[in-house]
Amino acid sequence: MLASQGREKIRVHALPRVAVLSTGDELVAPGAGPLQAGQIYNTNGLMLRGMLARLGIRDSTQVHCRDDLQATIDSLRRLMDENDVVLLSGGVSVGDHDQIKPALQQLGIEANLWRVKVKPGKPFLFATRPEPHVTHIFGLPGNPVSSFVTFLLFVRPALLKMMGAADEFLKPRLIPTMAGKTLENSGDRPHYLRGTLVNGQFLPFGMQQSHALLSLSRSEALLRLEAGQTLQAGDASEAWLLD
Ligand code: AMP
Ligand code: MG
Repeated sequence: MLASQGREKIRVHALPRVAVLSTGDELVAPGAGPLQAGQIYNTNGLMLRGMLARLGIRDSTQVHCRDDLQATIDSLRRLMDENDVVLLSGGVSVGDHDQIKPALQQLGIEANLWRVKVKPGKPFLFATRPEPHVTHIFGLPGNPVSSFVTFLLFVRPALLKMMGAADEFLKPRLIPTMAGKTLENSGDRPHYLRGTLVNGQFLPFGMQQSHALLSLSRSEALLRLEAGQTLQAGDASEAWLLD
């Protein structure tokens, strides 16, 4: 389009500087050898950086931190100093190992919001440090599917907005679909189901729990079922295409 107008150079917005801080004593970097009892590989670090890369943010920083208050404070402070956005993975609940809320408190940062009425993704947190430069802090839940969904819902549009995208590009790509079977949400939160599209029909794929990464990796779309909503097979709905 720009070439068609004879334009060789244009002014663009600077990319936000983004860091991903994963937390958890149980996490081992992929490639760092076999797992011991009680350990899992750090999925979210790479997953979130991949999602950032899809938005054009290819040089994000990745740091891992143990579930230790002082280490969390130090990592957070340094990453906030050096970045416009810090994505936190895990540690945003209220268990003994969850250091994010106490660390933010010690740094004098109050969460703008904490806990959202969405499934998966309830423990999501958002905070802003206004000085010395504005840094936005997104606390994503540790379960990989929750991290993925809350990134799409809350982080993606915020980053696109910071990059100067027009409002129409902030919205998800929704396409008309039909329920391929009965879909029921008996809970009190909207539920984003992960699934496939077969002949225009949405079918949830595999397990729908927030750790079930295999189902997510095979899914083509999300379907939002409102709290208390039931769709019968053939009922019209909309699906959010994943890229
Ligand atoms: P948390 O939000 O820290 O309580 O973590 C919730 C669940 O997600 C726990 O089972 C964690 O082991 C898991 N988890 C946390 N961070 C990651 C990560 N980076 N990659 C994969 N799983 C994670
Ligand atoms: Mg944790």
